[in-house]
Amino acid sequence: MSGQPRQREDAYLDHAATTTMRPEAIEAMLPWMTSHVGNASGAHRAARLARVAIDDARDLIADLMGGDSSEIVFTSGGTEADNLAVFGAAQAIGGAAVASTVEHPAVLACVEELGGRLVAVDHHGVLDIDMLGSVLGELDRTAVVSVMTANNETGVVQPLAEIAAAIRSKAPSAVLHTDAVQAFGWIEPDGYADADLVSISAHKFGGPQGVGCLLARRPVVPRQVGGGQERELRSGTHNVAGIVAMATAAMVCAEQRANTVERVKSLRDRFVDSVTALDERVSRTLGDFDVQNTLPGHAHVCVEGVDSETFLLLLEREGVLAAAASSCASGAQQSSHVLSAMGVEASRARGALRFTLGWSSTDDDVDRALAGFESVLEHLSVTL
Ligand code: PLP
Repeated sequence: MSGQPRQREDAYLDHAATTTMRPEAIEAMLPWMTSHVGNASGAHRAARLARVAIDDARDLIADLMGGDSSEIVFTSGGTEADNLAVFGAAQAIGGAAVASTVEHPAVLACVEELGGRLVAVDHHGVLDIDMLGSVLGELDRTAVVSVMTANNETGVVQPLAEIAAAIRSKAPSAVLHTDAVQAFGWIEPDGYADADLVSISAHKFGGPQGVGCLLARRPVVPRQVGGGQERELRSGTHNVAGIVAMATAAMVCAEQRANTVERVKSLRDRFVDSVTALDERVSRTLGDFDVQNTLPGHAHVCVEGVDSETFLLLLEREGVLAAAASSCASGAQQSSHVLSAMGVEASRARGALRFTLGWSSTDDDVDRALAGFESVLEHLSVTL
């Protein structure tokens, strides 16, 4: 074992990377990791019990996503759901794949492999709908357009209803996929009701890592073949514990959504107002963009003249855990394709910091993050 575990007293402000599991989800999954045994594809009593648990979870998730149980395909998480949506719809319908320039790599890599087209965003990261219309007009046939419900770095929510309307008018045979991985825990299902395909991932809303699903209102061709689970759409033994926990986390999330959103929003606003008041070098990355159109837990700021990696290391020494761009496989910070697509100048983007709050965030987390931020700024002012 290597690496330092997170200290109990750390202020964790990286909930967009992964959030705390809901205790109810842990409780729901435990029997499936201890007393219960059973492969949901089997025939005997134990297998049937697992199948019933999965079917119940499917009904619950479908209901919470505003879909039908027959439309849910359980996957290993958001990445797999995105891949199934983009590759699967491109193959099912036949035609080009189109996406915004600020999508997660789980979508961008599929579009790139398919030789598809990217559509620009404005300086706030909102899709340019006129450009989408032009791109769709230029293509002979479009199979799938993928635009995320809300961005993982900035939290900016996309106008999906308008995007769906543009697709209906310019490319009626195309489907709209939305990656709702960041948004699902925070917004009501009508926020993505216009999408034909919707991806979610449990670990972003209080479930375990390694499980998610695609809500597929339109046909997709499977990426994975084998035992034919999930109506042939996703072969592989079901992750019963994970699926049960994901459904429980989704239910608790929905039950508590209104209160959590209000509470987290006010923590976030206090944090952003306070850090931007600390020093004139600190500014909101989104400028005057209406924070009502961002996810409640996202705070994105730029610190002029500093390098975000250094800043984050110093913050960690102060017991504050945050991120620059999104997390990547190596753990290293990479320059952000999202900020560059938004046209944020390189000098500002170099000092970009993402603080994300979650359902378990407290006033104390914000107080400690503010204190840590202030001492890092002081330290940097002395050493610069
Ligand atoms: N899409 C978005 C917007 C994300 O933020 C993430 C994870 O960071 C993913 C997809 C990938 O999800 P997973 O980690 O479940 O594969």
